[in-house]
Amino acid sequence: MPDEEQLSEVLSEFARTLATDFPIQSILDHLVQRIVDVLPISAAGVTLIAPGTKPRYVAASSESAFRFEQLQTELGEGPCLEAYRTGHAVAVADLNEEDRFPNFAARAIEEGLAGVFTFPLHHGQERMGALDLYRTIPGSLNAASMSAAQTLADVAAAYLLNAQARAELRASADRSRETSLHDSLTGLPNRVLFLERLEHAVQRGRRSGTTAAVLFVDLDRFKAVNDQHGHGVGDELLIAVAERLTAVLRPGDTLARLSGDEFVVLCEDLDTEATVARIAARIGHAVGAPFVLSAHRVEITASVGIAFSGRGDQLSDRLLEDADTAMYQAKRKGGARHQIVDLRERDRGAQLDRLERDLHEAPGRGELRTEYQPIVDTRDGRVAGVEALLRWDHPSRGLVTPAVLVPLAEQSGLITEIGRWVLEQACPDRHRWRNGEIDELTMSVNVSAHQLMAPDYAAGVAAVLARTDTEPRLVTLEMTESVFVQDSERALVVLNELKLLGVTLALDDFGTGYSSLNYLKRFPIDIVKIDRGFVVDMEYDGASQAIVFAVIELAHTLGLTVVAEGVETAAQHEQLASLGCDSCQGYYFARPMPAADLDALMRPRGGGKVLLPALVTA
Ligand code: C2E
Ligand code: MG
Ligand code: MG
Repeated sequence: MPDEEQLSEVLSEFARTLATDFPIQSILDHLVQRIVDVLPISAAGVTLIAPGTKPRYVAASSESAFRFEQLQTELGEGPCLEAYRTGHAVAVADLNEEDRFPNFAARAIEEGLAGVFTFPLHHGQERMGALDLYRTIPGSLNAASMSAAQTLADVAAAYLLNAQARAELRASADRSRETSLHDSLTGLPNRVLFLERLEHAVQRGRRSGTTAAVLFVDLDRFKAVNDQHGHGVGDELLIAVAERLTAVLRPGDTLARLSGDEFVVLCEDLDTEATVARIAARIGHAVGAPFVLSAHRVEITASVGIAFSGRGDQLSDRLLEDADTAMYQAKRKGGARHQIVDLRERDRGAQLDRLERDLHEAPGRGELRTEYQPIVDTRDGRVAGVEALLRWDHPSRGLVTPAVLVPLAEQSGLITEIGRWVLEQACPDRHRWRNGEIDELTMSVNVSAHQLMAPDYAAGVAAVLARTDTEPRLVTLEMTESVFVQDSERALVVLNELKLLGVTLALDDFGTGYSSLNYLKRFPIDIVKIDRGFVVDMEYDGASQAIVFAVIELAHTLGLTVVAEGVETAAQHEQLASLGCDSCQGYYFARPMPAADLDALMRPRGGGKVLLPALVTA
C-alpha cells in the first residue's frame, strides 16, 4: 500500500523538474529511484521507444533492472514492449506462470526475477515507452499500487514529452545557429564564427602564452573568372578551393570564408614562423594546381597574408587586420605569394601620421628651407641654371627628404601652400646669382600634380612672379608625367595658361613612368629631363644608351632641350656630351646646397664664367 504522502511528494518533485529544464535522462533516473521508494517493488526500469529507432534512453534503479531492460530490447519481447504496443498495463505476478514472453521469462527467472508490472508511458496519442516494476518475490500489486504506478508513469510521460519538445527546439535552434554561423556556399564557418574562434584563441593565448597565426587568403583574378565564365563557375571554383584548403590544413585549424574570394585560416599552437610559412606554401600549391570544374578548366593563384603572434607576444585581436594588410602587401608585389606582415609598415604608418601633424606646423616654425643644385651646359660646364629642392629640418628627426615630405604634403592638402612658399623663396634667390655673365640663369622649381591641378594655379604663379619681379621665361616649372595621366584635359588647360604667362615647362624624371613620347608632342613642354636611372645604366647597358640617344634625337626634332639628371662621373658626362645632351645636373658638377654656399661657388673667377665642376676651374 503506497504511502499517500510519499506519493504526493514524488509527484510534486516531478512538477519542479518541469520548471527547471531537466534533461530527459535525469527525469527518468529520478522516476525509477523514487518509485522504488514509494511502491513495494525491488527495482524499476524505463525504456523510451521511438518508432523505427533503437531505444534512446534507458534508466534503471539497479544493475539488475538495467539488465532486464536490455534483455527485453535485445530479445525484442517482454512486458515492456507489450505495454508499449498495446497501450495498456501488463501485470505478471509470477513469471513461472507466464507464457506470452517465453524467451524473456526463461532468462529473467534464471536471473532471479519473479514478477513484472509494466505501465505504458503515453500522453494522448503519443507513445513513448514503458515503465517496468520488478519484484523478486511472486505476487500481485494491489489496485492502489497499480494506480499509483500508472499515475507516476502518466506524469512522467507528460514531463518527458515536454522535455522532448524542448530538446527538439534546442536542436533546431542549434541548427539555425549553425546556418547563421556558416557560409551557405561552402559550408565553412563564416566571419561571425571565425571572429568568435579568434576571440577564444586570443583569450587562451593571454592565459597560456600560446602562439597563433591568421592567414588571409585572397584569390588573384577571381573577378576575371566570374566575368569570363559566369557566377555559376565562380561558385563552383570557390567550393573547390574550400575543399582543397580544408585538405591542406591541420585538424585543429579553423578555415572560414569571409566573403567573395576571401578565405581565412586560424592556426593555433604553432612552433615557429616557419611552420606558418609552410602552411602558406601548402595553400599556395593547393590553389595553384589547375581546377577541373564541370564545364571548365580554371587556373588561379592566391595571395596569402600572414599575421603571426610569436611566442611570448601578446596575442592580439588585430591579427585579422594585420593579416589583411599583409595580404595586400602580397598583392602589391604581384600576387601568387605569401607575405608575413611587416609590422614595421604599421609603425611606419603611425610615424607618418605624426609627421603629417608636424608638417602643419613646419612652415610657421621656419623648419622648411630650399637648397639649390646647379644645372650646367654639357659642352663647357657653364652654370645655366639652378634647381630649387625642398628641405625640411624636423626638430627631432632631422632632415626629412622630399620623397617623404612631398607625398605627405599632397595627402594633407598642404602642397599648394608649401609649393608657393618654395617659389617665393626661389625667385628672389635667383636674383642673387644673376649678376655678371650669368644673367640668363634659370631657376627650376618642382611642381607636384596635386599642386598643378589645384584651382587658379597659374594665377598664383603669376602673382608670385610679379611680386618678386621675376622674368617668367627664366623660371622653369618641373613636373612629372603623372600630371598628364591623371586628367590630361585639365593638365593641358593649365599648361597652356602657364605657357601664356611665359614660363618654361620641363618634364622631370623622364623614363621612370609611362615614358610616352607622345606626351612630348601633345603637351607644351620645353625641356625633357632624363631620369638618373638611365644615366647610371648608360655606361654599362647599350640599350639604355640607345634609349637616351633616341630621346635626345626626338626631343631635338620637336624643338625641346634635354637635361640629364644624376650625372655623377666624368665618364657619364663625356658620354652625354657625345650623344648631344644639352645640359647636365648631378653630383659630378655640384650637390644641392643652401643658397649661401652656392653664393661662393657662383662668384665668377677669372674669366667671368662660372664653370663646373669647380675643380676644373679652381
Ligand atoms: P628631382 O626634381 O628629379 O630632383 C633631383 C633629385 O636628384 C634631388 O633629390 C637631387 O638631390 C637628386 N640628385 C641630384 N643629382 C644627383 C646625383 O648626381 N646623384 C644622385 N643620386 N642624386 C642626385 P631630392 O632633393 O631628394 O628631391 C627628390 C625629388 O623630390 C625631386 O626630384 C622632386 O621631384 C621632388 N621635390 C624636391 N623639391 C620639391 C618641391 O619643392 N616641390 C615638389 N613638388 N617636389 C619637390
Ligand atoms: Mg626636378
Ligand atoms: Mg628628376
